[in-house]
Amino acid sequence: MGLKLVIFDLDGTLLDSPLDFDAIRAEIGLPAGVPILEALEDIGPADRARAEAVIDRHETEAVRASRLIPGAADLLAHLRGRGVKTALLTRNSRASVEAAARRHSLVFDAAVTREDHEPKPSPQGVRHLMAACGARADETVLVGDFRFDIEAGAAAGVRTVAVVAQPTAWSVEATWQAADLKAVRALLDGLMGKA
Ligand SMILES: [Mg+2]
Repeated sequence: MGLKLVIFDLDGTLLDSPLDFDAIRAEIGLPAGVPILEALEDIGPADRARAEAVIDRHETEAVRASRLIPGAADLLAHLRGRGVKTALLTRNSRASVEAAARRHSLVFDAAVTREDHEPKPSPQGVRHLMAACGARADETVLVGDFRFDIEAGAAAGVRTVAVVAQPTAWSVEATWQAADLKAVRALLDGLMGKA
């Protein structure tokens, strides 16, 4: 088992962005804590369009105020230099992903956004990225900072890394836990060494 593809979550994993989900829910009129994209499936087209405009505006503002998480650029360049493909799997819009990539000079071999496939925790996006990058499940690792990342990876049969400062109830379900991107890099280096 080598390493051919690393799939990254964006917000909170590579990008420190002030995306305020509570504010988005409040503005749309959704109860606290519900997953936003799933809640939109249950409302009418007019309300849905209005809600999507709210989300798009919040995402655009968040990208403008975003910063790369320490080690993100190094890690992506390091993987690329070793011939490992990198991909992005996010519940954000394609427009906000492209804006973030431009702002921070990020390059990925492939990206899946909420317009492309069922959002995480569905494994659809993971499967698409593996096919697009020519990697099998046992050659792929998914790195994320939220429960949905780990669930999507597990459902697709890939190994997962939960990037969390402290272990949590969901992060212990990941294949590995890492405190930061430096620890992620060390872990991935170990996998490449076995290739
Ligand atoms: Mg995240």
